[in-house]
Amino acid sequence: MTDGCGREIEYLRLSVTDKCNLRCKYCMPEEGIRHLLHTDVLSFEEIQRLVGIMKGLGIGKMRLTGGEPLVRKGVVSLVDMLPCDVYMTTNGCMLSEYARALKEAGLRGVNVSLDTLDAARFKELTGRDELGRVLEGIDAAADAGIPVKLNCVPIRGVNDGEIEELCDFARRSSFDIRFIELMPIGCASAHTGIPSDEIIERLGLTPSESPSDGRLSSGPAKYYRQEGSGTRIGFISPMSQKFCDTCNRIRLTADGFLKTCLQYSNGTDLRLLLRSGADNDTIRRAIESAVGYKPPAHSFGNDSGSDTRRMVQIGG
Ligand code: SF4
Repeated sequence: MTDGCGREIEYLRLSVTDKCNLRCKYCMPEEGIRHLLHTDVLSFEEIQRLVGIMKGLGIGKMRLTGGEPLVRKGVVSLVDMLPCDVYMTTNGCMLSEYARALKEAGLRGVNVSLDTLDAARFKELTGRDELGRVLEGIDAAADAGIPVKLNCVPIRGVNDGEIEELCDFARRSSFDIRFIELMPIGCASAHTGIPSDEIIERLGLTPSESPSDGRLSSGPAKYYRQEGSGTRIGFISPMSQKFCDTCNRIRLTADGFLKTCLQYSNGTDLRLLLRSGADNDTIRRAIESAVGYKPPAHSFGNDSGSDTRRMVQIGG
């Protein structure tokens, strides 16, 4: 399905909950949020129906997000229910409990957030002393045969001193690591991110090692090979190297709102249609119409029209 700018939309980021077992400083406000009631959240059957309709529109890749998707009870069976390639982004705390079941349910890959290898800093960043469980979870996913990628959001003066150490950890563990530029959404705007080029220079990664402007994946990451290893260092740079012109994604919030761009509140309420008896054709047309008006690009820094949802309510 193409949007109003002619971009091929083939990827849905699907938030299954606004709850999380961590309280990351740049995601969840200190005062917390008013969480959705269970009845507000889409049921697995409603999600399955929407995913079926979207698959018919050419959206064949789903990423389960949150809050933290693994806190949603029964999420393993949801992976099994969805008629498409399913991936997950998780904070890893509960991964060791579910890795084998997720693999059996057909999970195709997992991105684990790992912003620090320092237990005290982990606690400072997330409010929880859970680094050990995250590292166990990463190992459990790898042991279960689920492809693992690590995601790190470098923040100036917080975890930027660990970039080399995180790369070493990834290389030793044979995982790709991606550094994601901080986006000024919600409480993240109180922090300062690190431009990708600064890290590339610091790590001494030379252009010859990277595909010029090429991408080695269907996502926005640009990868460099880690010397002497099969692993890669990736950079997702929405602030310094906007990739909106090739954006291929839309998002569905846990309460069924189809968001067509991360920054803006544009979209349509699919839960309302589902629960007011709309047929699949009506829902399909609503999706096509919303995607037709997908914003051409973000303008982070200029907040007019920005969504007021927090990152924990969007799912990244
Ligand atoms: S900011 Fe919006 S248009 Fe740009 S890549 Fe993200 S979702 Fe796509």
